[in-house]
Amino acid sequence: MKRRYPHHQPSQFHLLETDCLPSQNLWMKRDDLIHPIASGNKWRKLKFLVEKAHREGKSKLVTFGGAYSNHMVATAATGAACGLQTHCFIRGDEPLQNHYLSTARLFGMQLIPVSRADYKNKELLFHTHFGSDAHALYVAEGGESEEARKGVAEIIQELPTEPAFIIHASATATTACGLGYGIRDLGWKTKVLSVAVLKNAEEQTEKAREAGLSGTVTVIRGDMGGYAKTNPEFLGWVKQFIALTGIFIDPVYTGKALWTLKQQLESGAIPCDKPVVFLHTGGTLGIFSPEFLNA
Ligand SMILES: *Cc1c(COP(=O)(O)O)cnc(C)c1O
Repeated sequence: MKRRYPHHQPSQFHLLETDCLPSQNLWMKRDDLIHPIASGNKWRKLKFLVEKAHREGKSKLVTFGGAYSNHMVATAATGAACGLQTHCFIRGDEPLQNHYLSTARLFGMQLIPVSRADYKNKELLFHTHFGSDAHALYVAEGGESEEARKGVAEIIQELPTEPAFIIHASATATTACGLGYGIRDLGWKTKVLSVAVLKNAEEQTEKAREAGLSGTVTVIRGDMGGYAKTNPEFLGWVKQFIALTGIFIDPVYTGKALWTLKQQLESGAIPCDKPVVFLHTGGTLGIFSPEFLNA
């Protein structure tokens, strides 16, 4: 059954006052509250893809991800909410057991493990498994698409006033470019600071440049040496932030972005009185890994 995309907008927006960060003018856009499990930015990215599926008479979303992919879980949750079947090719030969995969299964997603070599050619995988299925919609890894950028741009339209900076965790630069489009559409001067949480800051900068957003989007390194790489000082701070604010942040995405914001404020690169919006992109499942909880 074809169901509409669940209405959630606008997501909450509030001032954040905490000793964990020196800013006096820090606001949080709470896309983490859009869904209890699915990352908020993934929800944004999928909105117009679901519309496309409905419009084109498709009944299943077929996508790609690693065993710890927030996009995988978000696609599963969204499909379940919208009456679409979901399928995901899972990269690598790791055992199909962790809380991301179990959650995706709960939402009814079919998981298809493939070798790292096969995973490289996604078009071929789709063609081999779903090529003859007119009801299958190809959804790129991470949801990357024009539809995704359009969905993210709606975040900007929900902001009550023009901030000096928007800062967020960034991996593929899709969210970054979507924010950039939204800002450009409104003629704002807001700067997007995209914190690269994996070691691909140059690649992300290039994507922003190709999108014509060099003047708006700046990619800052925040990876700490790689995806999911951390250190004890940082982990301690993330835990302290959660304990002192009651807001969940995770060590892979939002924690790294907020830690980078802290450094930018402390160094004076971002003045403490300037209005800053932190886009909370979600990532709740990242908190529930034993490595973090028991660290
Ligand atoms: C996927 C994800 C991001 C990165 O989004 P991109 O559009 O790929 O840059 C940021 N935060 C969270 C919590 C995510 O799950």
